[in-house]
Amino acid sequence: MIDFGFTVSPSSRINLDKCDKKSFSALAALEPDVLKCMACGSCSASCTAAHFEPTSVRRAILSLQNGQVEQALDLLKSCMLCGKCTMVCPRGINTRHLIISIQKIYGK
Ligand code: SF4
Ligand code: SF4
Repeated sequence: MIDFGFTVSPSSRINLDKCDKKSFSALAALEPDVLKCMACGSCSASCTAAHFEPTSVRRAILSLQNGQVEQALDLLKSCMLCGKCTMVCPRGINTRHLIISIQKIYGK
């Protein structure tokens, strides 16, 4: 291989036809409100923990939709269950309860 003095990062694209959608279906069966999420980001913008750690309900939901369970758990591991995200969700999703369910289903 020719050395150009730099490397190209691997693609972060996800093939949605091949990703495991079972994890998100299991969550949607328990928490149907998750289907109402429009990825607006209000939850992440209001999150106290996000000031200190990469915490995001929005990104966790998107990760689960893409079958990235470990990434979703990582994005919620610093959550303090304060409930601020629940208060600002324009879709009325009880995100705090959703986080508890995600940790219950996928947590180790
Ligand atoms: S605030 Fe509600 S609708 Fe917006 S991204 Fe968060 S969970 Fe989804
Ligand atoms: S409940 Fe968790 S994710 Fe929601 S605002 Fe509080 S710390 Fe952030």
